[in-house]
Amino acid sequence: MISYPMTPGAIHVVRLNTGEDLLDGITKFARGAGIQAAWLSYLGAVSRASLRYYDQDERVYRDFDLDEHLEVLSGVGNVSVLDGEPFVHTHAAFAGSSGHAVGGHLNRGTEVWALEVQIQELEGDPLIREPDDCTGLGLWGGTLGG
Ligand code: ZN
Repeated sequence: MISYPMTPGAIHVVRLNTGEDLLDGITKFARGAGIQAAWLSYLGAVSRASLRYYDQDERVYRDFDLDEHLEVLSGVGNVSVLDGEPFVHTHAAFAGSSGHAVGGHLNRGTEVWALEVQIQELEGDPLIREPDDCTGLGLWGGTLGG
């Protein structure tokens, strides 16, 4: 385990526009606001979703699309630093008209219908993502301050 102390910073409430890409929209806001560390949550609806599942045995992402109108039941994510830039990592659960849920790691290609986001800045030394040999993922491995 690794852990880093952070303290709560400003809370931003953001409404993304209809037709906007969900991941790009949150990333654009974070970068524009100079946010390097944050926790976020969101809800709303999308007109389609593009998701990934990480295959732990093969260590590859498996992409899949949901080409239907969906409620965003719950989205959660964070902002840390990857390759020197603020990077948004987010997972979400969606449901169609039957109410059954499906979800995963959010990819580009998820089109917003209506979305309300809360982004809680975290004050402290921003976390950076580094390659993790154990999982094959880019995980928190240190801070910008070293
Ligand atoms: Zn993920």
